[in-house]
Amino acid sequence: MPQTYHNYIDGHWVPAQSGATAENRNPADQRDLIGLFPQSGTADVEAAVGAARRAFATWRLVPAPARAEILYRAAQLFRERKDRFADDMTREMGKVLAETAGDVQEAIDMSYLMAGEGRRLFGQTTPSELRNKFAMSVRQPIGVCAAITAWNFPMAVPSWKILPALVCGNTVVFKPAEESPLTAVNFVQTLEDAGLPPGVLNLVMGDGPSAAAPMVEHPDVSVVSFTGSTETGRRVNEAGARTFKKVHLEMGGKNVIIVMDDARLDLAVDGAVWGGFGTSGQRCTAASRVVVHEAVYDAFLARFVDRARHVVVGDGRRAGVQMGPSIHEAQLAKVIEYVGIGRAEGARLVLGGSRLTDGDFAHGWFHEPTIFADVTPSMRIAREEIFGPVVSVLKVRSLDEAIAVANDVAYGLSASIYTQDINAAFTAMRDVYTGLFYVNAPTIGAEVHLPFGGVKATGNGHREAGIAALDVFSEWKSIYIDFSGKLQRAQMDTEQI
Ligand code: NAD
Repeated sequence: MPQTYHNYIDGHWVPAQSGATAENRNPADQRDLIGLFPQSGTADVEAAVGAARRAFATWRLVPAPARAEILYRAAQLFRERKDRFADDMTREMGKVLAETAGDVQEAIDMSYLMAGEGRRLFGQTTPSELRNKFAMSVRQPIGVCAAITAWNFPMAVPSWKILPALVCGNTVVFKPAEESPLTAVNFVQTLEDAGLPPGVLNLVMGDGPSAAAPMVEHPDVSVVSFTGSTETGRRVNEAGARTFKKVHLEMGGKNVIIVMDDARLDLAVDGAVWGGFGTSGQRCTAASRVVVHEAVYDAFLARFVDRARHVVVGDGRRAGVQMGPSIHEAQLAKVIEYVGIGRAEGARLVLGGSRLTDGDFAHGWFHEPTIFADVTPSMRIAREEIFGPVVSVLKVRSLDEAIAVANDVAYGLSASIYTQDINAAFTAMRDVYTGLFYVNAPTIGAEVHLPFGGVKATGNGHREAGIAALDVFSEWKSIYIDFSGKLQRAQMDTEQI
């Protein structure tokens, strides 16, 4: 019998009120049933938001250093459980063990970072315009926060949202992706074991329209932090606006590596392989475009194809495997569709292009690493997020043209340049419009103490991780303390607000 898992509401592990469950299966082997997970609906969201609202009344008053103590303990537990959590994660979402261990490590790092914030949460003190008056601004918790996340970083991204929300004194309802519920259970269980009081963090599993949309519409939810596709993000933004929620969106990407004529090609090839095919291309930061200077175009392409040809595809839990499957059948179908689009648009298919179905691949959603050359900026494969192991290589004549091509997409998450010329590196860093930029490294590899997020159709002006995350989950209160003992008026002639 498969194991049945439950939601976590008000400190109790409980089934969905309807009793409905959904299967979670291994994308590398569909015969492997991981478990049955709740298919929640409005009643479950109602219970979770109610618990979070009640818990907020006390959690907001727990001193931040005491809140932080729980996060320190959680960091320790994540560390102890890292191998098991990585194995569970690979089994349910497919990326290789080295990557899922890195995903758990992000939660460890974020727990320590936010635990440290419990003794800072700095505000501002400023001089007042008036004598014998003191002025300062302090961070205040906001209330109940909804965290709605994607499956590709199933522990890292929730930790980027939930841990800063908690240390700031908010309570949380968490709706993980339907493809990675076991990792969500592992995450929440660890925080429970670390000593988080009932109701402070609640887990509601299920699909987006049934289990997440009611959170976005709920009048008692004050903040929605969302990671997912741009299409869903737009819907979340519109729905959140009706009740004036603070909505934080991290959405799709079409990231770019620029390879200049003076680049170290060995490094650039490594970056393009790892950036393009890591996590089977299913990273928001995946390097799905490589823009190469004409002087090194042929040399780069030959080496890139040769390296990518040797990427070992298979079950991510097996030693030596470098690239796992697509997450599910629909995602694989999207990859296959885009390969067809690329061919029809006239791009040159130089590697891969097919689904893998023989032998061990027969029961999973595997696709070959695929490279299109001679792609032009107007082709759909150069503009749209595919979210699979498909890389488009484009030729340019200059740095200016490379920057123009880099910017000529709707998204703005991550970009990188390979060059030995410091002037070119700084020019591209300044002029490529993205939230992340790398020099002589691929488009991937965020560190938790730096802000993470994108511009244009990738984000809406907020950032997660880093100290910037505190700005999403707190609001400023400005405080004036007059100790003059009389009514003071501003020294300016203008009317006071
Ligand atoms: P998705 O938009 O389909 O789902 C994301 C989450 O939204 C899931 O939990 C889903 O259940 C929920 N959802 C679905 N419909 C909803 C609705 N109507 N209201 C509220 N929530 C709803 O995305 P996905 O396919 O799971 O993830 C892949 C996408 O995520 C890619 O576009 C990728 O680039 C993006 N992503 C972005 C970042 C980033 O930081 N920018 C990080 C990881 C993934």
